[in-house]
Amino acid sequence: MLPSPDDGAVNAVYLDANATEPLRPSAATAMLEAASLVGNPSSVHAQGRRARALLEEARAVVARRLDADPLNCVFTSGGTEANVQALHGFAPGRRILVGRTEHDAVRKGVPEGALVEWLEVDSTGQVRLDLLEETLARPHALPALVCLMLANNETGVLHPMAEVARLCARYGAHLHGDAVQAVGRIDVALHAQGFGSLACSGHKLGGPKGAGALLLAGPAPRALAPLFVGGGQEQGRRGGTQALPAIAGMARALEEALDAPADHASLRDRFEKAACQAGAIVCGAGAPRLANTSCLALPGLRAQGQLMRLDLEGFCVSAGSACSSGKVAFSHVLEAMGLKDLAGQAIRVSLPWNVRQDDVERFAAAYGRLAAGRANAVPVAGGMA
Ligand code: PLP
Repeated sequence: MLPSPDDGAVNAVYLDANATEPLRPSAATAMLEAASLVGNPSSVHAQGRRARALLEEARAVVARRLDADPLNCVFTSGGTEANVQALHGFAPGRRILVGRTEHDAVRKGVPEGALVEWLEVDSTGQVRLDLLEETLARPHALPALVCLMLANNETGVLHPMAEVARLCARYGAHLHGDAVQAVGRIDVALHAQGFGSLACSGHKLGGPKGAGALLLAGPAPRALAPLFVGGGQEQGRRGGTQALPAIAGMARALEEALDAPADHASLRDRFEKAACQAGAIVCGAGAPRLANTSCLALPGLRAQGQLMRLDLEGFCVSAGSACSSGKVAFSHVLEAMGLKDLAGQAIRVSLPWNVRQDDVERFAAAYGRLAAGRANAVPVAGGMA
């Protein structure tokens, strides 16, 4: 059931883009157009060919905009599936090196029985390049599959991917990048940036939920094992009728996200400055980060309580890591950064593509009131102007 106009959700200020971005109107239009087509893209008749043409148009857009070959763009149901397929496809005969701060789609997507080594991060959340090189250089019977996210969903921290890719190339490792939070927010280019594979998700860039893509480089990407065999769609790499409306919406959203990128940096900086004056600690502040993401800890105030207070005031934000049950899960990301003590006190504010400055200003004021309510809060003058 859709919310009624007097439901708080309708007027709430949405600052949880890293959970999912609001649907772009252009993507909704593309979805409706695609949904009006009758055919199955696998059918050979005229209606099927029309649907197939639209599917291949979307594939060409996604591949071209992310520097991949359309033949090696596999549509999936989202970022989770794309990551899990890459892990299952490239793990056999390899040891897997996984970043400590990876999303659960990767941490829990590792095939059973695989040989996993964890890659440590520093206190800002960036992967330790010295340890990565040490691990890659260690003589080993198996080549490596390195799995690292381009941008962290909780903190927005960006790994030094150019250096990571150089190391992977030097030691013959396959580099799989989880680009789910990065696409549309920073430059992502499969071949030019040295990735062996990349996982993307439509709903994180203003497209619909339920579509994603796995982009493949390297010598034999067509041999990638499917997770679902089914009818052999996607050149045998992903069985199941393609979700054409969702895929068309994702492609349109990608074009818009790249052609009209949101400019969040100055708004985010001013907001963080105000939050810090109110007593917040910005987790990952020392590293390059996504311009839309702030992970803010308020020592002494539990994240769950912060979320509830802010929700009551009409703001949608999340804890660093909200699990599907809606409970606040313990943040393995902050723990890996050595911020275990703050892990239960941090919330994530992530600005959507259509954020309004006055909404962020109102949020900053609400956050200031929240912080001022702490037992040992220091009074702060002024807002975020
Ligand atoms: N990877 C990262 C970094 C994410 O933030 C998410 C979703 O939050 C995923 C993967 C999973 O993507 P999807 O929701 O499309 O399955």
